[in-house]
Amino acid sequence: MSTPSLSSWARQVSPSPTLAVDAKAKALKAAGKDVCGFGAGEPDFDTPQFVKDACAKALQAGQTKYAPTPGIPALRKAIAEDYVRRGFVGMAEGNVVVSPGGKMSCYLAILATISHGDEVIIPAPFWVSYPEMVKLAGGVPKFIQAEDTTGFKITPAQLKAALTPRTRMVVLNSPSNPTGAVYTRAELTELVALCVQANVWILSDEIYENLVYDGQTTCSPATFSPEAAALTITVSGYAKSYSMTGWRLGTLIASTPVAAAVADLQSQISSNATTFAQFGALAVHQHPDQAKAALAEMAVAFDRRRLNLWKGLNAIPGLTCYRSQGAFYLFPNIRAFGLSSQEFSARLLEEELVAVVPGSAFGSEGYIRLSYATSDEIIAKGLERLARFCAKLKR
Ligand code: GLU
Repeated sequence: MSTPSLSSWARQVSPSPTLAVDAKAKALKAAGKDVCGFGAGEPDFDTPQFVKDACAKALQAGQTKYAPTPGIPALRKAIAEDYVRRGFVGMAEGNVVVSPGGKMSCYLAILATISHGDEVIIPAPFWVSYPEMVKLAGGVPKFIQAEDTTGFKITPAQLKAALTPRTRMVVLNSPSNPTGAVYTRAELTELVALCVQANVWILSDEIYENLVYDGQTTCSPATFSPEAAALTITVSGYAKSYSMTGWRLGTLIASTPVAAAVADLQSQISSNATTFAQFGALAVHQHPDQAKAALAEMAVAFDRRRLNLWKGLNAIPGLTCYRSQGAFYLFPNIRAFGLSSQEFSARLLEEELVAVVPGSAFGSEGYIRLSYATSDEIIAKGLERLARFCAKLKR
């Protein structure tokens, strides 16, 4: 019997390549292979104990029922207060939505603002899910290419040239996945001014906001001006800062009509994020000193690994790697080897059991992404194998 065809959405969507590489590396490991996994951006630390305790306590106390769709009131209030302290003017509980993951926050932000045929500008290299989310909303992704020669950052001139009357949104992601690039305040100010001038939404994905190095700082477009605040949807979450990837807890803060639309969409798609998990996240806000200490411990380790990996990559003949200053990714250039990033990554996994993500998955051929959210030992071993692999290739 032939069944009806799958939907156009299901037929056009590509599965997440980052999760696919991660699944493959984990399967090889489970089969007893000694894999060096640089695939998924997942911190290798455990969630801080005080967060787990708060969640466990809530679970024991029976916080196992539906919560209000946009989140438990105490958490929304704490999130809003934190943002106000950081310069988000006039934001309150009603502007915040807690969702089942940063990914969901991004998707709901896009669903709430993008209609059929609307163009969304996405700087490349980009995180794998933005274009797919835009397409699932009926929108049209438009890319601006940045290379290692410009620190993987787009220029105001490039943005200006890409804006059209059909543009409805610009995606900004600083610190960036996959490059680790961090825009300075001056650079972001110019880009945001162009968005305000064009009156387009800004999706500011700040999930890596707490992970910056070399004395770099981050800033949020929503704090630049009242006009920027009205247009910006700021997305973040607990996964990357507090090693809570499996908790699935994302946040979103935006103007009241946008936040309300996002909550309405969420009420039909998923309902609230897991109730007792939200109590764990609340502990992050209630115990800022413990949260800061946990974050600092992880950030110190990430920075050490970043520098070791960056030095090691640049020491391999044929590889060059931009010294990025945020998140936990490096994005070395592999063009000297003349292989596609897909072929390079597939052979590297097959021949040396090193898992990386091809640059093509992020819209940038000629690069590979390595996540250094992994141990110092894996980094050292992975570098040895990568060097041996590169030495075998013709240049
Ligand atoms: N965001 C992480 C990454 O890029 C986790 C996987 C995913 O959701 O893409 O590796």
